[in-house]
Amino acid sequence: MARAMQVDIVTPDRSLFSGQADMVSLPGTLGQMGILPGHAPLLSTLDIGEIILHMGNDSRFIAVSGGVVEVRPDKVTILADTAETPEDIDAARAQDALARAEQLLASNPPPHERPVIEAAVRRSSLRLKVARRHVGRRQVEGLNFEGGNG
Ligand code: ATP
Repeated sequence: MARAMQVDIVTPDRSLFSGQADMVSLPGTLGQMGILPGHAPLLSTLDIGEIILHMGNDSRFIAVSGGVVEVRPDKVTILADTAETPEDIDAARAQDALARAEQLLASNPPPHERPVIEAAVRRSSLRLKVARRHVGRRQVEGLNFEGGNG
């Protein structure tokens, strides 16, 4: 049996996940990182992106928007600014957030406002992507493709 490591994911509001995983893929600010049991200790900040927990034949997907990760050989601790499982995500809310942010970008905002708006685009696009991972496809795609028969 493969060795596993303890993974804890917390946000300021709650503990999102606490359990064992065979591998964790996460969005470090320097790029996506794959962490296996026995990894050398490290600390990294997190970008907007997807955490994937590999557990045997199963995988779990989590949308994360910033934070920090501490890796130890037997434990990965993620302190996320925000984090949601596919089931947590309100796809209609993410769709609205994306539309608002895209509208703002199209309105030629001052340069100093662009990074904040671009981050909102990335967060909402990510939430839509992660929501599609597990939530019934038709339900989510119906928001994009009216009348689609998915
Ligand atoms: P919005 O404009 O819809 O508030 P946002 O990107 O500004 O989106 P954040 O500031 O990243 O929102 O998150 C605020 C809180 O709301 C966090 O707890 C986050 O987990 C939650 N959240 C944001 N968007 C969603 C969503 N689409 N579904 C469920 N929870 C969400």
